[in-house]
Amino acid sequence: MPKRVVFTPDALNEPFGQQMYERLSGLDLPIEVLKNNRLTGLRGADDRETYRIAKNTLAIVNAPPSAFRLQPIPPSANWQMNLAEGCPAHCQYCYLAGSLAGPPVVRAYANLPAMLANTASYERHSNVGIGERRGEPTSFEVSCYTDVIGIEHLTGSLAECVRYFSERDEAQLRFVTKYNQVDSLLPLEHGGHTRARVSLNAEPIARRLEGGTASVEARLQALRRLALPKQLGGGGYPVGIIIAPIMPIPNWREHYTHLLDRIADALDFGPGIHPADVNVEFISHRFTPGSKAVLQSWYPNTPLDMDEGDRAAKRNKFGGVKYVYLPDEMKALKTFFYDEWTRRFPQAPILYWT
Ligand code: SF4
Repeated sequence: MPKRVVFTPDALNEPFGQQMYERLSGLDLPIEVLKNNRLTGLRGADDRETYRIAKNTLAIVNAPPSAFRLQPIPPSANWQMNLAEGCPAHCQYCYLAGSLAGPPVVRAYANLPAMLANTASYERHSNVGIGERRGEPTSFEVSCYTDVIGIEHLTGSLAECVRYFSERDEAQLRFVTKYNQVDSLLPLEHGGHTRARVSLNAEPIARRLEGGTASVEARLQALRRLALPKQLGGGGYPVGIIIAPIMPIPNWREHYTHLLDRIADALDFGPGIHPADVNVEFISHRFTPGSKAVLQSWYPNTPLDMDEGDRAAKRNKFGGVKYVYLPDEMKALKTFFYDEWTRRFPQAPILYWT
């Protein structure tokens, strides 16, 4: 629950903004309507205080016009569409660090229905070449800049997306979460057009680095309920697992073996009952100079290893650099995950390793 909720006047003029207002009022949260459409009062005396204020603030705003020009997001999906930016959790490796400018406040978009309608013009314009998606429906990823379940009880935005895409035959919605409050999603008619993914990691990483998220066990149970057929009380969703960020911590083989065994248990529905559709994505840990600087200001005492000396530098075509594991380490990790996954889940494709 945020400590502060603010609406911009434009957001409150949107019918979906009104719905959010009613939902938030029903939760007894104090709501402030700003005088104009600029968010102010988010900065504290120092970086730590700014972080604290921002993470406890939910702002309902209209997405700017630039949000209607969708960007490709390989290898995860064809296009990214952000229903919100900012996340209430405290992962010490957070992917948002260095990507989003300014204090990490959660901004949820009141003009979501217009954003959804806008995706229609991107259908059948897949950036062909993304693994399994050749010839498949165009995929839209809504989790690039937020945790969609982490804020769903406040906004209802994900349910709105699921409902919209249930009627789009040429499109697929994809989301991922580290939270477990999936009850509101289970009864929705999704038509198999939403892939519900859960982000998982080895216990020591989740416990030490993923503050404010659901436990690994709670996420596994959420995965189970999302995948369980509707006639058995589940959501009957196509599901996905993202194991990320993979790190070669001490005894990593043991920890990740345990995790894979637990995933197998969570998706075991008994003889003759199978999840509709499962796949997996593997993402190894990486950082950039920019994300490292932001993370160190947010989490000055982090135990996260971000020593460039132990990493390989990978340059992109624009001259940016990111630090990934050394080739031998990367190869050992990748071989382990491919072997162990395929052995346990021969019917569940690996979408990519990165
Ligand atoms: S759940 Fe994702 S977006 Fe949220 S803090 Fe963790 S890494 Fe960042």
